[in-house]
Amino acid sequence: MAHILIVEDEPKLARLLADYLENSGYTTTWLDHGNDVIPALRQTSFDLVVLDLMLPGRDGLDICRELRQFSQVPVVMLTARVEEIDRLLGLELGADDYICKPFSPREVVARIKAILRRASGAASGEAGAAPGPGSGPALQIDADSHDARLDGHPLDLTPVEFRLLSTFASAPGRIFSREQLLDHIYDDHRVVTDRTVDSHVKNLRRKLETIRPGDTIRSIYGVGYKLEI
Ligand code: CA
Repeated sequence: MAHILIVEDEPKLARLLADYLENSGYTTTWLDHGNDVIPALRQTSFDLVVLDLMLPGRDGLDICRELRQFSQVPVVMLTARVEEIDRLLGLELGADDYICKPFSPREVVARIKAILRRASGAASGEAGAAPGPGSGPALQIDADSHDARLDGHPLDLTPVEFRLLSTFASAPGRIFSREQLLDHIYDDHRVVTDRTVDSHVKNLRRKLETIRPGDTIRSIYGVGYKLEI
């Protein structure tokens, strides 16, 4: 079973998260000091890291940057301020998801499960031979394996981006408001803002456009977004 490293300096919060994760069958290790994280990651192989942003010693940003130099372990970043998420998304640290405190532990476990499912799919190379351009639909989404492809090319999406793309693809051409998108991409969207949707859309659009340059997701001023693939 997956081994999850929890880096959090608030013992109560760390304990709560550990309890929920262990009840879901995961093994957990807890660290409460930023300076201990990189040595632990070099020594032990973890399947996922839950990383608090503000820590004694090195902070989460610094740790995430360094660990990406030697590891592709999925990272879920915790932050105490929702406004911080936009800034973090803009920094492109290579974290797989961002969660704002206070959070629902169930939501965190659900997101961690989704990330681990995606990571194991990628590791086993289950995607197989990619269909060439022109064969099959332009956009292929497999919810079970969390596999998304555009024109046969695999898309490397975060869980939130995957849900966003799935939502758009469920009704091609339909305009979704930010509120509707929030409803689809987060189980509990009280923790995020409209601007968070904008950041996720921007990142998803950028990934789509590395495969297909041009307008992929159109912003409809004052209304929302629609997929144009
Ligand atoms: Ca903290």
